Amino acid sequence: MSALFRRRQDDAPALPEAPAESPLAGHDAVLADLDGVVYRGPNPVPGAIDALNAAQALGFTIAYLTNNASRPARTVAEHLTELGLSVAERDVVTSPQAAVPMLFEELEPGDEVLVVGGPGLLEEVEAAGFAITRTATEQTKAVVQGFAKDVQWSDLAEAAYAVAAGAAWIGTNQDWTLPNERGLAPGNGTLLSAVHTATGTFPKIAGKPERPIYDVAITRFKTRNPLFIGDRLDTDIQGARTVGIESALVLTGVDGAAELLKAEESQRPDYILASLADLHRPYPLLEIAPNGAVVGDAAVIIAGSDVIIDRGDPRDVNTLRAATAAVWTSETPASALRMPEELVGRLG
Ligand SMILES: [Mg+2]
Repeated sequence: MSALFRRRQDDAPALPEAPAESPLAGHDAVLADLDGVVYRGPNPVPGAIDALNAAQALGFTIAYLTNNASRPARTVAEHLTELGLSVAERDVVTSPQAAVPMLFEELEPGDEVLVVGGPGLLEEVEAAGFAITRTATEQTKAVVQGFAKDVQWSDLAEAAYAVAAGAAWIGTNQDWTLPNERGLAPGNGTLLSAVHTATGTFPKIAGKPERPIYDVAITRFKTRNPLFIGDRLDTDIQGARTVGIESALVLTGVDGAAELLKAEESQRPDYILASLADLHRPYPLLEIAPNGAVVGDAAVIIAGSDVIIDRGDPRDVNTLRAATAAVWTSETPASALRMPEELVGRLG
């Protein structure tokens, strides 16, 4: 038997060499959210760039999944390259890219699509060969709606006319809010709500936590066992759990201790990371005890309806790991438990 023949028999490619017992071990790719994971606004999250470059150097496929529909993948890749990552356009999966295959499920190439949104959406729908309209007509077969800062009432009105007349309706993503330096602005989900309220119809959603964007990524990168990294439980982590892939919540973005401790089962990550540097460190063993949990130097117990830090620094991520393990395995629902203030308040 030749060496070549033997290689072909073995259809599972070798996995990259990850540090033993680390969250990377056993995976072949890292799929990461962007905002709150790689950058916050214009600035990189401290340590994120080095950790991702180190994972790429080990042989991991690294790709980015973003619900943000306003920027084309090319523009996102350029931004990430400026931050110090090595990223090609195809390494960025956007919610408009996930919306296009959904259009093909209902439409033929050349059919008329009403686009509400910015260049990131317009370019993808145009490149797929659909005829673009900004005004509802009798020929409009579908509405695809994504966020752009210049979406106005007249755009929502055109979407409503087409949807009410029976056009298919796809939203790139359903994020209710768009955090910025001044607060929480209305996101695409809120704009979809306006059309929903006017028409009584619900859109299909392409972005996280729905399946399509994950399916596009898994197919494009031919990954068998990716690790998904995000900063939001209700999009990143819930979506990863829906498609059955392992996930890590990194505490550099939206959700922190308070959200983790009360997370529903469908939104609980496999790993909790203080920063992406933790990707390369051994993940400590969780020991579940009858009334609590132990992780490394941290021990958290549940006494009656009180969650108590028995041992460990509340600022240490192991204490949060122990507390989540204790709360998630407790027979008392999280809503009936008193959480330790010094832990819940650790990220503000
Ligand atoms: Mg995010």
